[in-house]
Parts: sequence; structure tokens; C-alpha cells
Amino acid sequence: MIRRCYGRQGTKSIIVNAKRASAKAQSEVPASAKISAKAVHTALTNAQSRSLDQASAKIPLKTRFLDPKRAVLTLCLGLCLAVSSCAPDRAATSPPKAAKPKASLTNSVAPPSISIAAAPSQAAPNPAEARLTHAKAAIEKAIVPAYAEKILLAIDKDRAGFLDLLAKVEAERSTDPDRFLRVDKSGLPLSEAFVPADLLPLDRTRLSRSKDGMVLRKAAIDALESMDDAARKEGLTLLVSSAYRTYAYQARIFARNVQELGEAAARRESAEPGRSQHQLGTAVDFGSIDDSFAETKASAWLSANATRFGFSLSYPKGLETLSGYRWESWHYRWIGPAAAKLENRFFEGLQHNLMLFLERYFAAARLDS
Ligand SMILES: [Zn+2]
Repeated sequence: MIRRCYGRQGTKSIIVNAKRASAKAQSEVPASAKISAKAVHTALTNAQSRSLDQASAKIPLKTRFLDPKRAVLTLCLGLCLAVSSCAPDRAATSPPKAAKPKASLTNSVAPPSISIAAAPSQAAPNPAEARLTHAKAAIEKAIVPAYAEKILLAIDKDRAGFLDLLAKVEAERSTDPDRFLRVDKSGLPLSEAFVPADLLPLDRTRLSRSKDGMVLRKAAIDALESMDDAARKEGLTLLVSSAYRTYAYQARIFARNVQELGEAAARRESAEPGRSQHQLGTAVDFGSIDDSFAETKASAWLSANATRFGFSLSYPKGLETLSGYRWESWHYRWIGPAAAKLENRFFEGLQHNLMLFLERYFAAARLDS
């Protein structure tokens, strides 16, 4: 209590208050016990070098006002106690202050300074410019230079359009992060336990299906039905041939392909378990699931219209070195209309590069939060 009081008031104010208190005390004691200002100063100087707790405890009550030095010490002690007794009232009206961590701890846990928003201390920060800078940095780090240069050029031609679509993707990702997971040969594989929570059967829909028992995520089904309606109006049928696959099912497919084709060919044709987009519950295979599908009207229609409904061709023609898989004209992944537009307008229609970018963009943003 004493130390707390002493620290708040400071030495100077204690001396002043003690002098006043001493004068008051002297008026209440016999003249023979009154002390001079010099004696007060001397007593305070001595007292500052000792513990006030100890000094007070050693003074018998009956002699406190008889010895000048002791009288000063006692009065100082009384003042300090009086101030301390007010502390609970302040505490009741002011929120308690959090204990400040030691400087060394603060420095050791500070996150890397990767900001989407500019630092508050910077003059007139422009959030749009800061996000654009952050996005460009993510593109340069995540995507090989030959592609990154073209993407950055496209962005510079339509910055507002890019930021608008990116903002929509950010909003959608905040409620559905799985939709934008990068699932390919080089990223982190999905675990065996990864199963989308909102899978629904396609059997209850009006979609054309090559078999029963297929399921997809609800949002993907809604988009697929809208796309199917549009195709039907033009006299086309979109036959759904494969949808969600479990980790275990993908493991069986891959093992069978290795056995029939050899490991190298199996890796071109199919994904290892945990690396199939079908496990996300948003990927669909259409038609014959072979190259003959590319010759159909349905394939041409999908190529021209799938983006409008949020579907993206995962493995385009001639880009096996980028995606890791040979061309699959039948395999589409639903990522939502905003992301599909972002991919088409700024990422040359390459889902692989879009996902590399989004993964980097959001990973850096997490470090900042
Ligand atoms: Zn597929």
C-alpha cells in the first residue's frame, strides 16, 4: 500500500503534503514538541532512504508526536494511507488496465508486418491501393513469372474491375473457405477425414445423371441446376457422370489405374487420394469422361457458358505442365461466379494460377490479423 501510494504521488508532492501535514500536526501538539521546517526537510530526506513501512512500525503510538522526525514520518505514512484508501473508488469508476507485457515478450510474438490496410501512422492511406499492392505481391510470389507478368498487365488495365471481383471472392470465402482450397498435385492434400458438411443427393434433382447415388454440395447443385436449365433451353443435355468422391474411393481409382496403366500414366490420368477436386464436393465430370466429350455440343456450350454459373475448367488443353494433369474437357469445378469471372478476366482462364494466387493472398492476410 505504501509503495503504491508513494509511486503515484512522487517524492516532490509527498514532501509538500508532508510539510503541510506537519504544520497541522504541530498546531495540535504541545509547543515543546513543535518542529522547524529544517527539521521536517531533514526527516523527509532520511525517510526517503528507508522503508516507510519499517519506519512507521518502529514508532510507538504514544511517542509519535513527541519526536519531530518521527512525527513527520508518521504524517507521511498517514497521508499515503489516505490516498491509498481512495484507490478502490477510482478502480470502481475506471476499467482496470491490462498488465503490460514485458518489452522482450512483445517483440518476440509480434506478427510479420504484412498489411492489406496501410499502417495507421501512414499519411492518408488508400485501402484500395493497399489491397492492390498486397494482391500484386501475392501474384509475384505464387505464380511463375511468365504468367504473372500477363496477369499484372491485365490488372493494371482494369484495377477497379479486379478489386471489385476480389472483394466479392473475399466475402464469399469468409463464409465458405473450402470452396477456394487449392487441391492439386503440389499443394497440401485433403485429409481422409475431409468430408463436406452439406452434401446432398443428385437423385432428387431433375439433372440428367449417368448413375444413381451421386452427391454434391448444396451450392454446387443449385448452380448446376441453373446451368442445366439454361442448356436445356438451347436444346442441350448436360449429363452428370461423376460428382463427389470420398478419399477411400479415390484411393481405389488411383490404385486401379496404377495397376492397369502403370504409375506414370496413372498420375497423368487420375489424382492420388487427397488430391482429387472431387473430394471437395464441388467438382463434376460430364458426359463420356473421355476425349470424345470435347467433340460434343454440350462441351462447346460448357466452354462458352460455364463461367456465368461459377464453373471453371480445371485442366485445360495444352497446359499439363502447369496443372499436372492432361486435358480433361469434361471436368469442371464450381468456384462461384465472382471467382470464375476473376479467373477468366485476369488469370487467362487458368484455375490453377487463380488458386495459387488466392492461397497466397489469404495466407498473407491471416498473418496480418
Ligand atoms: Zn473429374
